[in-house]
Amino acid sequence: MKSMNEGATIGGNEVLIVIDVQNDFCPGGALAVPRGDEIVPIVNRLAARFRHVVLTQDWHPRGHFSFASSHIGKKPFETIAASYGPQVLWPDHCVQDTPGAAFHGGLQIPHAGLVLRKGMDRAIDSYSAFYENDRATPTGLVGYLRERRCLRVFLAGLALDFCVRYSAEDARRENFAVGVVEDACRGIDVDGSVAATRASFAALGIPCISVQQIARA
Ligand SMILES: [Zn+2]
Repeated sequence: MKSMNEGATIGGNEVLIVIDVQNDFCPGGALAVPRGDEIVPIVNRLAARFRHVVLTQDWHPRGHFSFASSHIGKKPFETIAASYGPQVLWPDHCVQDTPGAAFHGGLQIPHAGLVLRKGMDRAIDSYSAFYENDRATPTGLVGYLRERRCLRVFLAGLALDFCVRYSAEDARRENFAVGVVEDACRGIDVDGSVAATRASFAALGIPCISVQQIARA
């Protein structure tokens, strides 16, 4: 297989997964990723080159387990031990059917074939587009991509060091070829999480590429 470091030609077997470009993850939102809104025009242009596009949407019920407000005495960005491992606690964000959960108003990807919502289970967080944070409960995206004959997964969106990271790692684990379009992502960087993400990508052989490296077939 051709290395993604050499650039990628986009045809029918490639999919762009746009992670969580929602108001709450942009400046002014409840869990803003610094400069998160900068990627909106970049992602729009990038998505226009793909036949297959999936959008993910973080979509929590009120009182979700990942909210610091659901745990007495806990503050946002503290980590707790969940039954499935460490869980960072966040400010309340992306509550179902609220303006904060809506896609950023500038996002224009009308040809996206699937909007995949995640994080609906009150008791489990879901960073990845493929599995909830227990690493065992699938979202169904693997089956969708296989039926659509997508072999190569490109990722963009928010935040690089959480939902993009875990989605990329799960895609790799599911034996898709994976590339993270780094200039179409922004990180939130909690306790060195951006550095940890880069180290993990390097260890797993997940290349970070630029928008410029992606050409239409
Ligand atoms: Zn969330």
